[in-house]
Amino acid sequence: MKTWKMAARAEKMNPSVLREILKVTDLPGIISLAGGLPSPKTFPISAFADACAEVLKNDGAAALQYAASEGYGPLRQAVADMLPWNVDPAQVLITTGSQQGLDLVAKVLIDPGSRVLVETPTYLGALQAFGPMEPTPVSVASDDEGVIVEDLIAKAKDSRFIYLLPNFQNPTGRTMSEARRVAVSAAAEAADLPIIEDNPYGDLWFDEAPPLPLTARNPEGCIYLGSFSKVLAPGLRLGFLVAPKAIYPKLLQAKQAVDLHTPIFTQRMVVEVMKDGFLARHVPTIRALYKRQRDAMTAALTREMKGLDVTFNAPVGGMFMWARLPEGIDTVKLLPKAVERGVAFVPGAPFYADGQGDPRTLRLSFVTASVDEIDTAIAALAATLREQLAH
Ligand code: PMP
Repeated sequence: MKTWKMAARAEKMNPSVLREILKVTDLPGIISLAGGLPSPKTFPISAFADACAEVLKNDGAAALQYAASEGYGPLRQAVADMLPWNVDPAQVLITTGSQQGLDLVAKVLIDPGSRVLVETPTYLGALQAFGPMEPTPVSVASDDEGVIVEDLIAKAKDSRFIYLLPNFQNPTGRTMSEARRVAVSAAAEAADLPIIEDNPYGDLWFDEAPPLPLTARNPEGCIYLGSFSKVLAPGLRLGFLVAPKAIYPKLLQAKQAVDLHTPIFTQRMVVEVMKDGFLARHVPTIRALYKRQRDAMTAALTREMKGLDVTFNAPVGGMFMWARLPEGIDTVKLLPKAVERGVAFVPGAPFYADGQGDPRTLRLSFVTASVDEIDTAIAALAATLREQLAH
């Protein structure tokens, strides 16, 4: 086999630890609480069929032509209208998923060795997106409400940005309180530290909308990333960012180099689907479904883990729950045993940028499996745990 001389950066790339771990979880017969897959029950398939036909009938040629890198004007306007602060559509950049937003941010803001502050734990996909630009990720101590302000202040100096997930965080499901947002926003502004705010789950609240985004409090100091993956469908690969004038042109140039523009057919189709207030009717059905499933998982954990030293949170929105198992359990080692009993989850440790993750933690998605499957899966997880503890 020919050996290729690769870039130093490629030599450093590794398959995601998680992908390796999760290979075992795709086997038939496994109930997966692992992946972050929205429930397919929420995909508005017939609305897309109608919109697809409309777009081809009315604007077929334009929908199949090259288009502007900034994105489709009516979609940029719709995004600006959706957001809870005053957004100029000229500051909206349509991206191929919010994952691309993370890539663009990395290309524009990170030099090799740049300090990049992240939560403990944080979204693994962001660490992967930043990785090729060779940053030095620095973990900021965090509690149930997100990053701890004193530690943020202590670490802010000479850092390029802090990457934050204030709503229903991936992986923990936690949400930043109003008071914490005020303090984080003020501290970042005082330290002249840009905030990258990633908010793909913000619309999936159960009882009340979360507090205003950090970006709404200081739009000049933040880049905001949003997504249609969780409110319409992830296969669209449609997201957006909102950036201040001082940085927008560079993000746009980076975007141009990556893929010229996000598929215009998809953008036009989504505008067509969203007309007449579709999301205002559709998103509440997703919230109601996910809330029922969160309740089912909370009830199953309470019932099945009785008498065991297991703690877990009850997120007020989003897709994920975070649990901590008894002393002595390592969830990386527990996973293959759980898979033997037909259930998969994601171990928590890989989500920590500093490698200091608690081996007892794990992430559970409550949205992909049905209520019955959740019951079966949590019972299987409890049986696996009891067996391990008996050893
Ligand atoms: N950010 C976070 C926190 C996520 O959980 C995800 C999806 N797993 C993304 C970004 C990427 O989402 P998408 O590219 O589908 O918009």
